Amino acid sequence: MIRYAILGSGSSGNSYIINYKESSILLDAGFSLRQIKERVAQSEIDFSTIKALFITHLHPDHARGAGVFARQSGIPVYLHHRINDTLKAFSSLRIPPHLTQFFHVGKPIKVGDFTITSFHTRHDSPYSVGFFITIEHKSFLLLTDTGIVEPKMIEYAHKSNVLFLEANYDVAMLENGPYPYQLKRRIQGPLGHLSNNDAITLLNTMNSTMAEKVYFCHLSKTNNRVDLLDQLIQKELIWRGETTICHHGNFYSSHLDI
Ligand SMILES: [Zn+2]
Ligand SMILES: [Zn+2]
Repeated sequence: MIRYAILGSGSSGNSYIINYKESSILLDAGFSLRQIKERVAQSEIDFSTIKALFITHLHPDHARGAGVFARQSGIPVYLHHRINDTLKAFSSLRIPPHLTQFFHVGKPIKVGDFTITSFHTRHDSPYSVGFFITIEHKSFLLLTDTGIVEPKMIEYAHKSNVLFLEANYDVAMLENGPYPYQLKRRIQGPLGHLSNNDAITLLNTMNSTMAEKVYFCHLSKTNNRVDLLDQLIQKELIWRGETTICHHGNFYSSHLDI
C-alpha cells in the first residue's frame, strides 16, 4: 500500500508526503518543522521514514521550512542543480552543504523504491520544477506553480494514478478582485499560476484510465472559492475520476493499493 497526504496547499504553505514500506519522501516544505511534524503525524506516516525532501522552487510557500527541516532532521534536500544561481534566496535557507543534493531536470533520482523525475514549470521563480514520481507500477504527479501547461506535463499527467494539480484562481474573481493590476497580470501570465479552467482543460485531455484521483491544489485564498471550482467541475469536467478540492491550508490523506 502506498500512503500519501497533502499536508497543506495554498499560498500559506505547500507540502506533500508519499510513503511506501519503510521509506517516505516529502515534496516541498512550506511550513515550519513543527507544523510539518504535526501534519505528518496526522497522516499516520512515521516521520522517521522520510528519506529525502524535494523542493519545486524557492517561493516561501514551498521552501520556507527547508533549512530548519534539514538542520534539525539531518535529512537531505534535493534541489535543481542550478539553484545556486539564485544565491540569495537559496543561501538564506541555510541548508547545510552536506545535506544539499542536486537533481538535473529530466534525470530520474532513486530514493528507496521511489523514482523522482523533475520537469520544467513556467513560473516567476528561477529553476522551478514539478515532479513525476513512480513507486512500483504506480505514479504521482505534482504540478503546481506554472503559468503554462506544456506537452511534457500532459504526457506525465496521462501516466499518473494520482495528480496534485494546481487550480489557483477563478478568472472572474481574479479580474474583479482586490489585487493591483500588475499582480493580476503576473498571476494570469505565462510565469504565473494555473486557473480553474486550465486545470479542467488539462484533465479533459485524459482519455486513459490511468488516473484514479485528482486533487485540486494551491487554491488562492483571495481569488478562488471552493464552490465556484466545484460548479465548474460539474459543468465542464469530462474526465470521470475521483476529484477532491483541497481547501486552503487543509490536510488530506489517502492511499493506493498496489
Ligand atoms: Zn506556490
Ligand atoms: Zn510559486
